Amino acid sequence: MRVDPTLRQALGDGNGFDASSCLNCGSCTALCPLGLELFPRKLFRYALLGARDKLVENTDTVYSCLLCKMCEENCPAGVHITDNVRALRVYLGREVFHLGPRGV
Ligand code: SF4
Ligand code: SF4
Repeated sequence: MRVDPTLRQALGDGNGFDASSCLNCGSCTALCPLGLELFPRKLFRYALLGARDKLVENTDTVYSCLLCKMCEENCPAGVHITDNVRALRVYLGREVFHLGPRGV
């Protein structure tokens, strides 16, 4: 796994990504109606570790989120999960789809 030390800053700057309080407990993954093994716990871990390639590999997963907040309502650490998903979309929109700064 290649580490991009600039990833966290790129995700945070203007996008508001913040999963620093995540306990990696897996409640979000267990409750998500999409039933995707990775989502959102592991994707946040990739972001925190600077694993840019792993995020890019999982672009479809990031865009499949329904923004229903089932995960967020039950997160013991109060992580703003859907805001983080939006931040990942803005980042991937820029990096993968070459969209503008607001991801459109
Ligand atoms: S439920 Fe919250 S604390 Fe637990 S893994 Fe998901 S984001 Fe992290
Ligand atoms: S907001 Fe997204 S990640 Fe969270 S439970 Fe809903 S579909 Fe799953």
